[in-house]
Amino acid sequence: MKRALIIIDYTNDFVKNDGALTCGPPAQALEKDIHYVTETFINEEDLVVFGVDVHEEGDPYHPETELFPPHNIRGTKGRELYGSLKQIYEENKHKPNVLYMDKTRYSAFAGTDLDLKLRERGVTDLHLVGVCTDICVLHTAIDAYNLGYSIHVHKNGVASFNEAGHKWALSHFESSLGANIL
Ligand code: ZN
Repeated sequence: MKRALIIIDYTNDFVKNDGALTCGPPAQALEKDIHYVTETFINEEDLVVFGVDVHEEGDPYHPETELFPPHNIRGTKGRELYGSLKQIYEENKHKPNVLYMDKTRYSAFAGTDLDLKLRERGVTDLHLVGVCTDICVLHTAIDAYNLGYSIHVHKNGVASFNEAGHKWALSHFESSLGANIL
């Protein structure tokens, strides 16, 4: 197993029109592509990681409490995977190559055992999809770069509520993190 797909924060709060911190239509437009690449990775027995933000309501110690409206609160509908991704996860969650990983910071590596899980499986190449391009995808990509992984970002699998930030992040992945933009 050399490849892993990390699906970042593709939840109702980040994607649905009424989501608490939504990227809106640009994120909704990713659903088919993320669905396709997720199925491909699962079927080819590559690793698939659902990296999902989790927050506690009103957490006075969390830095995002000051920065963003409450989102992805534990146990809420907003934190559920969006659209057909929820179904793919439910159908495949018992497979050994499918992992669900709570994260509490932007990066899927921060405070999680993601790096250990990847190294146990001999993963060298990370494929990134999800939202937001310039926040959680970016911070995950930076940590991946610092940890020595090869990075592949699926252009039609990432989006942001900030179009300028989205474009800047795509160029940063390529020019500074050496990522392949697919
Ligand atoms: Zn968050």
